[in-house]
Amino acid sequence: MPTKPAITIALQPQYLTLAEELRTIISFDREGRPIVAFLHGTNYVRGLSGDVLLKRVVSRGHKERRKLSAAERRAVLGDLLNHAHRMIDRLEPQAAAEARAWFDRIRHWDVDRLEAERERFLTVYKPISILPPDQYRALVLQATEGCSWNRCHFCTFYRDRAFRIHTPASFREHIQQVKTFVGAGLGLRKAIFLGDANALIIPQPRLRDLLQVVHEEFTIGPDADFKGIYAFLDIFGAERKTLADYRELAAAGVRRVYLGLESGDETVFRLLNKPGSPAEAIEAVRTIKAAGIAVGIILLVGAGGERLAADHVQHSLATIAAMHPGPEDIIYLSPLMIPPDTPYLAQMQAIDSPPLSEAALAAQLEQLKQGVRAIVPAGTKVVLYHIEEFVY
Ligand code: SF4
Repeated sequence: MPTKPAITIALQPQYLTLAEELRTIISFDREGRPIVAFLHGTNYVRGLSGDVLLKRVVSRGHKERRKLSAAERRAVLGDLLNHAHRMIDRLEPQAAAEARAWFDRIRHWDVDRLEAERERFLTVYKPISILPPDQYRALVLQATEGCSWNRCHFCTFYRDRAFRIHTPASFREHIQQVKTFVGAGLGLRKAIFLGDANALIIPQPRLRDLLQVVHEEFTIGPDADFKGIYAFLDIFGAERKTLADYRELAAAGVRRVYLGLESGDETVFRLLNKPGSPAEAIEAVRTIKAAGIAVGIILLVGAGGERLAADHVQHSLATIAAMHPGPEDIIYLSPLMIPPDTPYLAQMQAIDSPPLSEAALAAQLEQLKQGVRAIVPAGTKVVLYHIEEFVY
């Protein structure tokens, strides 16, 4: 008689993983919601938003990454839960009380309940459009909503909402809703990310009050569950903070600021319609680092198209070098995804600089990777940043 495949359980304080040999692996948060899975050779990540991201290798060096449609999502979740329930049925007779409690929580969820979480999520959050890759598992608190600029030619992340800054009272209410929604899954989150696009342009007195609310609601520090506070700064020049302001933020637990430099080339930077300039970005980074806060600097691979490619690479590397990044910093290389409904393409056509082909994009990525590695101290991370891999 053929033997049944071995089923294993790995119980961690904040998550549980069930595995049937190496073919089917599913992990759940403490609420019993699936968070990651490997099924039929494909990886899935389910975010708090209820979105499910698919990731798989389709050919050598070629990965498929995309969010599932509603129909695909329901099918994958149904399949995943069937596998999970089957594994639980086999494990349960010998399981300890703690594991049984986890099994009960997992069994609570069916596809309809998981899908209903999507609506609930949108009563708590505005959609979380993007995070830096090392913050995908942060707890996002939307101190602001949207982007105060919202006019970069390649970016549609926040076009769906007006910019607003929470008052301390409305921010506290938001935080309490977030805590209820995330529930026991909170333990998986080790950092606080202040949303949305530019939380650090909040004028300092208001930011101080909002950070005070964060500290009243969470314990933050090297030995606490939440290790630090993180945020984007995507606008350089305007609303500039001083060294003293950043020192105050460092003392309030801000550990890293993520800057969308996109390009160190003046012409490309202007074509993207980013506010400020590469020179102002250098100044901002130097001030932030002088205050003891690390930076994550994002470069757009392929920005400026074919005609400006050499300038983009050369001046981006020079700009990064002038920022003096160190091992505590991260340089992200993010392949430019051009949304169809933005002025970027028409603008590139007007200057006769078509987008890079896939091969040229891969070559520029390699050029930037090698170039950045050659100018940063050993230990400084240079990381690929695929925005299609994001799910919150
Ligand atoms: S500043 Fe950042 S978030 Fe705002 S429009 Fe530009 S790229 Fe998008």
